[in-house]
Amino acid sequence: NKGIIAIEDNKPRAIELFNQLTADDPNISVVVCPEKYPQGSERHLIYAVTGRVVPERALPSAVGVIVDNVATAMQAALAVKDDLPCYERIVTVSGNAVHKPGNYRVRIGTLYSHLVEHGAQGLKNDPARIISGGPMMGFSLHSLDFPVLKGTGGLLLFDHQSELAKLPPENPCVRCGKCVDTCPMFLEPTQLFKAVKRRDWPAALAGHVGTCIECGSCAYNCPAHIPLVQYIRMGKQFILTDGFGGHNPYYKK
Ligand code: SF4
Ligand code: SF4
Repeated sequence: NKGIIAIEDNKPRAIELFNQLTADDPNISVVVCPEKYPQGSERHLIYAVTGRVVPERALPSAVGVIVDNVATAMQAALAVKDDLPCYERIVTVSGNAVHKPGNYRVRIGTLYSHLVEHGAQGLKNDPARIISGGPMMGFSLHSLDFPVLKGTGGLLLFDHQSELAKLPPENPCVRCGKCVDTCPMFLEPTQLFKAVKRRDWPAALAGHVGTCIECGSCAYNCPAHIPLVQYIRMGKQFILTDGFGGHNPYYKK
């Protein structure tokens, strides 16, 4: 029976607008959050606006909360008010390899190649790196022959001149602790990736690998360029699903 609209403090026009729109509704309030990554993570958002802590392996409903992002809230409104199914997404196309970066409203199922050609006015250069999603949590694609899905939010294309297209080689961990300092889930990514590398699943479990939200902050700050998130994701897939051939003794349904 209570709604909270959380908006980052770098969006003053949105804050003003939603304050006006909700002024007469005592059940809805606007909470301004500091601009901070990963503020959009539902666990962090719930803590920031309510002070409630979602337990490990639990959903937000365990603490009486449902989090919807802007797109989901809008789709729910369209479904209830206008009987419309979810058939469109706003997709950000960006990067130095496209002519016209921007936000595009596209039908679900549209190929990325079509979106780039007809929305972003085509490619300036061959993309050396294609990322579906954002710069921190997106994943690489080998071509543009993939469709926009209902969860698609962004498409990034970088050519060979971009620093972001370069993949520096992985070096040994120098034990600087930067990944530990930056982890918003208070994990020890350096220990987790080493546990996954040596397939030490009990150690990965003991390090709470399942609570990683894959925000990418650890890898972004790692001076050894270790793909920490990919290692941790492998560990999660093995432990939290019955991965790698269905013979996982640590899998708990
Ligand atoms: S991706 Fe890295 S920084 Fe982010 S929650 Fe997982 S371990 Fe922590
Ligand atoms: S940031 Fe990278 S190099 Fe530093 S401790 Fe973590 S994994 Fe090791």
